[in-house]
Amino acid sequence: MDSMNYSDKFGQAVDALKLEGRYRVFANIERRAGRFPAAYRHHQNELAEVTVWCSNDYLGMGQHPAVISAMQDAIATCGAGAGGTRNISGTTHYHVMLEAELADLHRKDSALLFSSGYVANETALSALANGLPGCVILSDEMNHASMIAGIRAGGSEKRIVRHNDLAHLEAELAALDPGRPKIVAFESVYSMDGDVAPIAAYCELAERYGAMTYLDEVHAVGLYGPRGAGVAERDGVMDRVTVIQGTLGKAFGVMGGYIAGAEPIVDYVRSFGPGFIFTTALPPAISAGALASLRVVRDATELRDRHQERAATLKRRLGEAGLPVMATESHIVPLMVGDARACKAASDRLLDHHGIYVQPINYPTVPKGTERLRLTPSPLHGDAEIDRLIDALTDVWRSIGLKWAA
Ligand code: PLP
Repeated sequence: MDSMNYSDKFGQAVDALKLEGRYRVFANIERRAGRFPAAYRHHQNELAEVTVWCSNDYLGMGQHPAVISAMQDAIATCGAGAGGTRNISGTTHYHVMLEAELADLHRKDSALLFSSGYVANETALSALANGLPGCVILSDEMNHASMIAGIRAGGSEKRIVRHNDLAHLEAELAALDPGRPKIVAFESVYSMDGDVAPIAAYCELAERYGAMTYLDEVHAVGLYGPRGAGVAERDGVMDRVTVIQGTLGKAFGVMGGYIAGAEPIVDYVRSFGPGFIFTTALPPAISAGALASLRVVRDATELRDRHQERAATLKRRLGEAGLPVMATESHIVPLMVGDARACKAASDRLLDHHGIYVQPINYPTVPKGTERLRLTPSPLHGDAEIDRLIDALTDVWRSIGLKWAA
């Protein structure tokens, strides 16, 4: 028998992506501390300055002086790595302080750090399902890949709930045996459409039908609520959500993920979650940077206000220019293209002709036919940058022949 050519097999799968126009090409970017959203782009042995319009460093905290110096100090004091798993020598004082601060931010007993928001969701959801024999997870159909991975790994029964559809959620809850444990898993700000879940109504239903709630606030922590604890804080329902999950890699500008909740629940995940237990702890400098960021962001109401103002201004300007901006209730600004190849062509032209970097968003991140440019204005994007973006997009829409707003 001929031996299988494994490289060819994998190569063919990647070629299929290329044919569909959704092969991922990474822009080679060098961020410049102190100059965000400006960055250098390395391309064909040349260096060009670009403006980044698609970063999830939503507030520019990745370059905040307090964050940089906290990280430098921690490296100078503790060195580079944590040196072990959390259980075996890897828990440093920075991890302990950060977890206490995160618990306080969400007004919960405890918080637990993970290598990333992805790992937090995957580990926590699978562990929680494992800890509740016979449990059913009710999962919003638009939930992030990391939640889906956690739910799959947990192996419990799951029901997919139509997106933000309270009537559907209630029907599913009502159909279940009242004695079965249930977890309602959803997000606050959905990262691609920028819409927001009615968290209070979710809690109401969960309470009525005896379910616990698991809320991913990855795209909301730092950005919403009086202390930047997220949409649940803004809506005054943080105490009604059982587990809040977040990231330190987006609005906080560093890296890492976490959950916050009642002590026994967090302690259970700490004690039973393989993705927490069997991996090296975050470097102390990451924890120190995230801690410094959290302390700045908690009090930075004006930064949050400016962030919202920039998003509203950008949406208005795109609309005035006839560009097909999706109306959103959050800081996320999707510009609809509707085709993978056209989306990539638009992104390429923005980068190559205008020095503007917006990564194309294609399937499977969004459904086919809804390919888009996802713009993320920050408080550091000025009026002049918005003017340049609108001019560049107008050129791109004309030259490629993309659809304008109806
Ligand atoms: N949850 C949601 C909704 C996300 O969009 C992301 C994206 O990255 C994650 C979780 C994972 O967070 P992290 O980037 O910290 O791994």
